[in-house]
Amino acid sequence: MALIVQKFGGTSVATPEKIQAAARKAVRTQQEGNQVVVVVSAMGHETDHLIDLAKKVNEEPPAREMDMLLSTGEQVSVALMAMAIHSFGHQAVSLTGAQMGIRTDSSYTKARIKTISTERIRKHLDAGKIVIAAGFQGVDDDFNITTLGRGGSDTTAVALAAVLGADACEIYTDVDGVYTTDPRLLPEARQMGLISYDEMLELASLGASVMHNRSIEFAKKFDVPIRVRSSFSDAPGSMIVSMPESPSVAVCGAALTRDEARLTIKNVQDTPGMSYAIFKRLADRKITVDMIVQNIGLESRADVSFTVPSNELRDAQRAIQEAMPLVGATEVTCDDAVAKVSVVGLGMADQTGVAEKMFGALANAGINIQMITTSEIKISCLVQRSEGTQALRAVHQAFGLHHKPTDANTWHIGQMQHAKMSPSEVVERLRSTNLEQLTLLDISLLEDQARVTLSGVADNPGLAEKIFKAVADAGAVVDMIVQSCDGHQGETSISFTVPSDQLQACLKVLESGKFGVRKVTSASNIAKLSVSGIGLRSHTSVAIALFKALADLGINVIMTNTSELRVNVVVDGKDAKRALEALKKTFEGALV
Ligand code: ASP
Ligand code: MG
Repeated sequence: MALIVQKFGGTSVATPEKIQAAARKAVRTQQEGNQVVVVVSAMGHETDHLIDLAKKVNEEPPAREMDMLLSTGEQVSVALMAMAIHSFGHQAVSLTGAQMGIRTDSSYTKARIKTISTERIRKHLDAGKIVIAAGFQGVDDDFNITTLGRGGSDTTAVALAAVLGADACEIYTDVDGVYTTDPRLLPEARQMGLISYDEMLELASLGASVMHNRSIEFAKKFDVPIRVRSSFSDAPGSMIVSMPESPSVAVCGAALTRDEARLTIKNVQDTPGMSYAIFKRLADRKITVDMIVQNIGLESRADVSFTVPSNELRDAQRAIQEAMPLVGATEVTCDDAVAKVSVVGLGMADQTGVAEKMFGALANAGINIQMITTSEIKISCLVQRSEGTQALRAVHQAFGLHHKPTDANTWHIGQMQHAKMSPSEVVERLRSTNLEQLTLLDISLLEDQARVTLSGVADNPGLAEKIFKAVADAGAVVDMIVQSCDGHQGETSISFTVPSDQLQACLKVLESGKFGVRKVTSASNIAKLSVSGIGLRSHTSVAIALFKALADLGINVIMTNTSELRVNVVVDGKDAKRALEALKKTFEGALV
C-alpha cells in the first residue's frame, strides 16, 4: 500500500467550504488504496492576524510566546479538517507537532527539525485513519512549542514524507505548478512537467518560490519526490525530483528579483582576511548577500561589490560602515534602482555558450548589464530596475523557455524512490544526523586555471556578448565570470577564469585592441576551491567559515561566487594545496 503525504496551504483551507474540499481529496486518495497523511497550514491569513495581534500588546513580543501563539493557527485547521473527514463518514485523527514527536532545536520562530518519531502516526495509519498533522510546529527538548519559520508547513510535509518513506509528497496550493518564470510577469511562461531539486533551490532563492526553500533542501537530502498542484483543480501539476525536465536543455527557468540594491566598497586593501572582515559583519546581521564581485585591484586595491535585498540596504550600509576602517576602504557607493535577472539550469554545467546567449539577448534588447556573476547552474545579471521585465522577457525568449523540450522526461509514483540512496542508507542518514543539519557533500580543488581581467572597458550594452563570443571563438571554455562597475565613470571591469592552457589564446584576441580595453591583466596559475552541499544559503556560516579559514592562513581570495549548492573561491595556485587541507579540516564534521 502506497503512502501519500498531502499538504494544504493557507489559501487551500481558508474557508469551511475549502476545508471540506481538501478533506474530500484526502478521502478520495485513501479510497484509491493509499495511506494518507494530511499536513495543514493555518487558515487563510490567520498567521498574519496572530502576528498583528501580538504586536498590539507588545511591540517586541518574546519569541517563545510568539510560537505559543502562532502554533494555534495550525491547531484550529487540523481539528476542523479531521471533523470534516468524520462528517463524510471516514476516520481521521488530528495531531499537533508535539503529539507527532517533531523535536526541534530551541530557536523560536525559526526552529530546525532534529528528529521525528513515527510510531504514533504509523499506529493511526495502520488502524485505517487519515492522519491530520499540524504544519509549521514542533517542540524542543523541554517541550516548549516552536515554529519553523514562515511557510514552514512545506517543511513539515516533506520531513514527514522523508521519515515515513512516503511514495509522494503532494503540495496543494493556489498555483497549478512550477513555471519557467513568474506567469504574473510573463504570460508566456510555461508550466513545467518536472524540475530538479537543484534548479528549484536556485529559483526559489531568487524569489520565484512556490515552496519554502528549506523544504526543498530536505527533499533533496532524503530524495523525496514532490508534486506541486492546485487545490482547485485536478490538473497533474509539476514534479520536483532529482532529475531535470530535459537531459539536453541548458536553461530551464528564468527569474527576476526586482527589489535588489547594489553596494560597492571602494579601494579595499587586497590582502588576506578582507572578504572575511566584510562579509562576517553582514552575516552577523543575517543580511542575505548575493552577487559578490571583487574587482582585481590596481596597486593592491580592490573594489568589492555585492547585492542585497532593497529592504536590507540600510542595515547593510551600517555593517559596511563598521567594516570600512578595518579593510582600509575609502568610499562606499550604492544603487537602489537595480534588478537582477537570472537563468538557471542543470544543463549549463556541461554546455558552452550559455552565458554569451544570455548576454546577447540583453544586448539585442538594448539593455546594459551592470554586474555579472555565474555559478555552476546559474547566471545572474544586474540591470536597471525599470528594464527588469523587458530583460526577463528577452532572456526567456532567447532560451525558448515557452516551448516544451522535445525530450522532456516524465515521472510516475515509485519510479525513482530513493534513486540515489538505498532505503537503508536513508534510514542511516535519518538516525545519524539532525534532520536539518548542514550537509556538505564535497570539498574539491580545480588546479591549473588562469584568470583574465579586462579593466577600463566602456560600459555599453553588448560588450559582454562581444568579449565572450571572441573568447569562445578562440577555443576557450570560460568558467567563472564576474563583472562590476569600476571606480571610473562609465567604465567597467570583467574577470573570468579559463584552463591555464587556453590563456594565451584568450589574451591574443583580447589584446587585439578591438574591445577598447584600457588594460588586460592575467594570472596563469590560479586554482578554484569549491565546497558543495545542501542548504548552503540558509546556513550562511559556510562562506564565512571558509573565508575565515583562508584568512587565518594568510591566503588571499582572488575571486568568489556563491549559490545554493556551492561556495567557490579562487586563490593563487601556490596556496591551493594548503587551502584545500585547511577547508577539509574546517568542515570535517559536516561532510557526509
Ligand atoms: N501558517 C504558517 C505561515 O503562514 C506556516 C505555513 O503557512 O506554512 O507562515
Ligand atoms: Mg502559508
